[in-house]
Amino acid sequence: MSGARDGLALYGGTPVRASPLPYGHQTVDEEDVEAVASALRSDWLTTGPRGAEFERAFAQAAGTREAVAVSSGTAALHAAMYALGVGPGDEVIVTPMTFAASANAIVYQGAMPVFADVRPDTLLLDPARVQAKITPRTRAVVAVDYAGQPCDYRALREAAPGLPILDDACHALGGSDSERRPVGSLADLNTFSLHPVKPITTGEGGMITTDNADWAARMRVFRNHGITSDHRQRQEQGSWFYEMVELGYNYRLPDIACALGLSQLRHLPAWTRRRQEIARLYDAAFDGLPAVRPLAVRPGVSHAYHLYVIRLDLARLSADRGTVFHALRAEGIGVNVHYIPVHLHPFYRERFGTGPGLCPVAEAAYGEILSLPIFPGMSDADARDVVEAVHKVIEACLR
Ligand SMILES: *Cc1c(COP(=O)(O)O)cnc(C)c1O
Repeated sequence: MSGARDGLALYGGTPVRASPLPYGHQTVDEEDVEAVASALRSDWLTTGPRGAEFERAFAQAAGTREAVAVSSGTAALHAAMYALGVGPGDEVIVTPMTFAASANAIVYQGAMPVFADVRPDTLLLDPARVQAKITPRTRAVVAVDYAGQPCDYRALREAAPGLPILDDACHALGGSDSERRPVGSLADLNTFSLHPVKPITTGEGGMITTDNADWAARMRVFRNHGITSDHRQRQEQGSWFYEMVELGYNYRLPDIACALGLSQLRHLPAWTRRRQEIARLYDAAFDGLPAVRPLAVRPGVSHAYHLYVIRLDLARLSADRGTVFHALRAEGIGVNVHYIPVHLHPFYRERFGTGPGLCPVAEAAYGEILSLPIFPGMSDADARDVVEAVHKVIEACLR
């Protein structure tokens, strides 16, 4: 065993890559820079015309009537929970296989997150587990298009009839379902993050898409302190008067950021195709490699591949996931783990009494998953380095 491992960079061998490859990275071109510069030279650094323009363009890309820009993906989730009227005494069903913010937004509104387990093949929220968790207090369901793969919203609606469904689509902008409907239009409310590792970026930023004009209006008030007019509207009306009608927040997205978002959006179709190309390269390279399995992809969906997740068959390896992780990092491959199931975080354990055993499928997956680098700026040579390093490490650790 140690002989086979001698060549690994972890044990002093030569790494596959001299310079590390991150798991995700933004692409910013000169047109993006120019777009931001022109916003900076304009009269409006925030609440200006670029905000509305970005919302219109985003709604068009998502196939919805409304898009509401906010300052982060987390703010988008919070605004969506507010729009749904979620509050103390309510329960909201949520997947544990996500970034903590998906559940935190429920807690911000004073409600209780109820974790429902995922399907073992895709790690997407399992409709049968959702159905089993519904009580008279359930107010909504939060699904995540994990890794960029759209959930089966038809099955989720059947499992939770009459309940609003929120798609935390932070991974999945650019994807579509098996009927070619774009992500952003699949659930009643759909939230996005515009952080640099996500499909497009505004630095920090978020968006909510919906066809419901009342919810959109509520979220526009919510992102602006609960005030019914913004600075620009008051300037146009020549008025000082405003009323604060709700307890809102300052979750506005500056025009500087919206200018970048508008410019980034032009690239989305090509970037999604590039992510899918890299995924095809990985699929082919790992087909037949023992102990490594990519997650299943539902037939007919267009997967946006924010993440390319492999699952290790630890029974066939003489190493655990942690060792494989460190060995790949040592080879210069910026692997990551998405995610520690949310119900295992100390905050949730202490506040809500969650813990191991609550979502066994997610917990088992957590011990076996690795996210490989995937982003549109990666070259085929970068992807081949990832393949070489995975083969090198796995083959050295096979039983
Ligand atoms: C990134 C992400 C968020 C949070 O978005 P921020 O813009 O960082 O606040 C929420 N949910 C999921 C699934 C994410 O990937």
